[in-house]
Amino acid sequence: MTSLKLMMSIRKYVKRFFILCSLCLGFIVVIPKKTANAWGFYGHQRINRMAVFTLPPEMITFYKKHIEFITNHAVDPDKRRYSLEEEAARHYIDIDHYDPQAFREVPIFWSKAVEKYTEDTLKTYGILPWHIEKHYNSLVNAFKDESLDKILRYSAELGHYIADAHVPLHTTENYNGQLTNQRGIHGFWESRIPELKAEDYDYFVGRASYIDSPIKFAWKMVYDSHLAVDSVLTFEAILNKNFPSDQKYVYENRGNALIKTYSEEYVNRYNLMIKGQVERRMRESIHMIGCMWYTAWINSGKPDLNHLGAQEISDSLKSVIQKEEDLYLLHKNKHVKGHED
Ligand SMILES: [Zn+2]
Repeated sequence: MTSLKLMMSIRKYVKRFFILCSLCLGFIVVIPKKTANAWGFYGHQRINRMAVFTLPPEMITFYKKHIEFITNHAVDPDKRRYSLEEEAARHYIDIDHYDPQAFREVPIFWSKAVEKYTEDTLKTYGILPWHIEKHYNSLVNAFKDESLDKILRYSAELGHYIADAHVPLHTTENYNGQLTNQRGIHGFWESRIPELKAEDYDYFVGRASYIDSPIKFAWKMVYDSHLAVDSVLTFEAILNKNFPSDQKYVYENRGNALIKTYSEEYVNRYNLMIKGQVERRMRESIHMIGCMWYTAWINSGKPDLNHLGAQEISDSLKSVIQKEEDLYLLHKNKHVKGHED
């Protein structure tokens, strides 16, 4: 890679990091005057929570006991972006960077993909499906070790990455509509629509089932999401053209912050056009998370989780999580302050 190319890819990476951070933290669009809202967090937490109810009897008692951990820590990977440089690339894959036929071209296995493109290139354009597999394997080992800390942490975080893979705009270079003059669409789709609609969604997705190849399923999530990119963007462009521009946005008070966001009417019209696509992807996420947890448990030899029932998470895990939280709050406040200056 030439030094100019390297500089460009670093700039792109850093810029994307900040955009994704602010989106996931709920700066829906524009004026992040003070603190952010947690609507992006809300979706992840709801998805992890509902996934617990897909589990079979041998697992559900354990997961229900720890449902607050599984829910609250659904968002740890997004928070960790502030303390771990390599975290950002785990949340997306710009599959359209590679080729129009990318799904045929990009090897599904990490080692083959590294051979073909180099690790640097893969990390520049995102490693989401491979990271899902890696986290899945960590969960299998956690079950084998019968480690309560690891089972809970990897379950919660695997849920996060699987949910990200179900968001169409996590699979494209045009992740915030910046290439098609639709800036803000990322937060519109994954935060604003669930914020207004998710209470009415049907979360009954059936029982988790065994899947024979987690990496192939991770790629299927990305493939299905990417197929939806066109409709996500096209319908918004059509609506934007036909909707009164002075009614597209509203200003809302969130705590001490004044936020410019998409109006309810705009959300309703778009939601009709995409025929419940956000709800469908959310339901798929819930089901796939259940399937991955269940498959990891089966493939680890079905350990008896009731043995772990009496334990609580360790102080050392609590302190790791607290450190990440502290760094997240520190950087969040700095970032927000930066906007105010
Ligand atoms: Zn994420």
